[in-house]
Amino acid sequence: MKDMNVLVINCGSSSLKFQLINSKSEEVIAKGLCERIGIEGGKMIYTPAGGEKQEKEIPMKDHTEAVRLVLEALTDPDTGVVKSLEEIGAVGHRIVHGGEKFASSTLITDEVMEAIEGCNDLAPLHNPANLIGIRACRELMPQTPMTAVFDTAFHQTMPEEAYLYGIPYRYYEDYKVRRYGFHGTSHSYVSHRAAELMQKDYEDLKIIVCHLGNGASVSAVKNGRCVDTSMGLTPLEGLIMGTRSGDLDPAIVEFLCNKENKSVGEILTVLNKESGVLGLSGGFSSDFRDLEKAYRAGDEAAIRTMKGFAYRVAKYIGAYTAAMNGVDVICFTAGIGENNPLIRTMISSYLGYLGVTLSEEANAGRGEDALISTPESKTKVYVIPTNEELAIARETVALV
Ligand code: AMP
Repeated sequence: MKDMNVLVINCGSSSLKFQLINSKSEEVIAKGLCERIGIEGGKMIYTPAGGEKQEKEIPMKDHTEAVRLVLEALTDPDTGVVKSLEEIGAVGHRIVHGGEKFASSTLITDEVMEAIEGCNDLAPLHNPANLIGIRACRELMPQTPMTAVFDTAFHQTMPEEAYLYGIPYRYYEDYKVRRYGFHGTSHSYVSHRAAELMQKDYEDLKIIVCHLGNGASVSAVKNGRCVDTSMGLTPLEGLIMGTRSGDLDPAIVEFLCNKENKSVGEILTVLNKESGVLGLSGGFSSDFRDLEKAYRAGDEAAIRTMKGFAYRVAKYIGAYTAAMNGVDVICFTAGIGENNPLIRTMISSYLGYLGVTLSEEANAGRGEDALISTPESKTKVYVIPTNEELAIARETVALV
């Protein structure tokens, strides 16, 4: 394994998350976050491995300024973790949408930047921010190789019947309206790790990955290729999420526009930001820690919400079992999947037909790789903490 430090950057419209990872030890050397870039109240959080977390209020007029601060922190003589920028061998950028242009990660060139820009239409909130992050890094580290790792790339192996919507075909031809899927880096990482833990060939397995976080999606990975996933053209489709509705009858949009005297854009904001478990619980919470507590106290809103969430996941597992003509292993990952034994139990209660039985003791664990099904369970069930930053660092090292 090459020994280099990889800076992993995840840029949002007003934020920038980063981790510096050593490719040989795969350890995080430092990590942090810049918030409120370009708006009042800028803040930077920086944590060197083994050191204290530092928080400072600091205005950042743009992303270049934020990247500059990150690089200064990493090379600071007292609290930094590298002597100079030369000790950063590569930068890996998380890019949300690669459209149909990118089926894998790639080294960033001017042509690649243009192609990413060509996908802006498909992710107008995310891709432009990702590009700003790339430009800022290129300005400050012009000699350092950089890669783009796409959320959509892993799902590009889906067959036509899985990615096409039942709408006029010309919408696909003219506007590329189709299902793309997201969280691809996580689905790839977790499905590979499942094969590793099972000591089986990736290509020989039928795997279902349930990435259950604030954003949530399920994917079906058959013989080493993603064959379906629950998010679509945008991350709104599929599961009931923290604040996103997931699947619904599209006629609801017009119906609510008329009832509430709102525009399509306003209803879409409701579907993205005020729906999901937050909406279903009557505005109680989008956080499963709150929901679980209330569920255990017998709160009706929390009970219907958690049941609704679990049911939708179970339905997708059923659909993907059909899509793959079977399933060998089901994996739970992300904030809820890794840390919420109750929701794992609720989902698994629908899976008797797959011969799933959970070990109560193993399922009580949180946050580490674990087989949580019993030795007798016909289909294996694992908890596998996702690590998108490490996956991006690995992809980056492989490319440079
Ligand atoms: P994510 O988007 O992957 O960060 O997941 C966020 C969700 O994970 C929230 O609903 C949290 O309640 C849940 N979560 C995160 N950490 C924990 C934890 N330690 N215990 C229980 N739930 C957690």
